[in-house]
Amino acid sequence: MANSKYEYVKTFEQSTSLLPNTYMIVRIDGRGFHKLSAKYKFEKPNDRHALELMNAAATAVMKELPDITCAYGISDDFILDRSSRLFERRESKILTTVVSTFTSYYVHLWSNFFADKPLSPPMPSFDGRVVLYPSSSNLRDYMSWRQVDCHINNLYNTTFWSLVLKGGMDATQAENRLKGTIASEKNEILFSEFKMNYNNEAEIFKKGSIIYRDYDSTSSVLNRKASAPADYSSEKSELSKTQKEKERKRHVKASIAIEHTDIIRDEFWEHRPWLLS
Ligand code: ATP
Ligand code: ATP
Ligand code: MG
Ligand code: MG
Ligand code: MG
Ligand code: MG
Ligand code: MG
Repeated sequence: MANSKYEYVKTFEQSTSLLPNTYMIVRIDGRGFHKLSAKYKFEKPNDRHALELMNAAATAVMKELPDITCAYGISDDFILDRSSRLFERRESKILTTVVSTFTSYYVHLWSNFFADKPLSPPMPSFDGRVVLYPSSSNLRDYMSWRQVDCHINNLYNTTFWSLVLKGGMDATQAENRLKGTIASEKNEILFSEFKMNYNNEAEIFKKGSIIYRDYDSTSSVLNRKASAPADYSSEKSELSKTQKEKERKRHVKASIAIEHTDIIRDEFWEHRPWLLS
């Protein structure tokens, strides 16, 4: 763009650069999904197609943004984690790109999961925030916090909707019945009143979905570690352009796995060390 007397307005732009050497998490959340889930008659407490659509949108985001190492989702809530120099770590660029890419795919893929329920305005939208974590143990705790939340919410929702759909209660009665109950009491209500063993509920409901880049199983763990995202704690470790390109291609080539498994215990992370490097 040619210089003009108007160009000074550009200097009013503000941009936040995210702290280097930290894990960046983008957490997105559907706007008004309580209403949206009623409008499209999502199955309660969990609509499997709606969850699979969220997973498909997250997978598409990971394909378009190879720097993202993993994602975790429950309900209308998704976190995408990466530690990289994506967009020079400009916060607004990262956040808006992830949220808008996710939203586009959610809408684009909708009909694959709800062929008989065409979307109509108001269209689904998502908000998002970026959170930074300086250590892998903070990151692990964050992931654990989300999965504990998933468990607590799912046990509550499963019991609540059993009382409403099978027990004939209205929402207020079910809420009152559950007020102050601990986990074992909710399990007991499910078992004695509805012949349901909570442990037998689907893993995708109980544990949420962890989506991650999975590298060729022929490459050793050491290789994976060595070629994991750059450690830029020192200037010396800066990657050359060709190295960066090689790295990007490796991320693009990796397959993307979806599991519904425990991410609180060490095991998941110990077997996939590249996710925390
Ligand atoms: P906000 O705009 O503040 O996020 P919200 O209505 O989206 O409000 P959330 O706390 O984000 O509220 O909760 C999302 C709600 O969407 C859940 O409580 C649930 O009612 C509904 N929901 C989301 N996904 C599903 C699903 N797969 N199956 C059934 N219900 C779902
Ligand atoms: P970034 O991802 O950094 O935004 P960009 O390629 O989108 O990179 P912009 O500075 O945003 O770069 O410029 C958008 C470019 O898209 C324009 O330079 C132009 O080449 C092209 N473009 C956008 N809209 C139109 C249009 N309506 N007709 C023709 N070209 C367009
Ligand atoms: Mg919200
Ligand atoms: Mg929401
Ligand atoms: Mg939510
Ligand atoms: Mg542009
Ligand atoms: Mg532009």
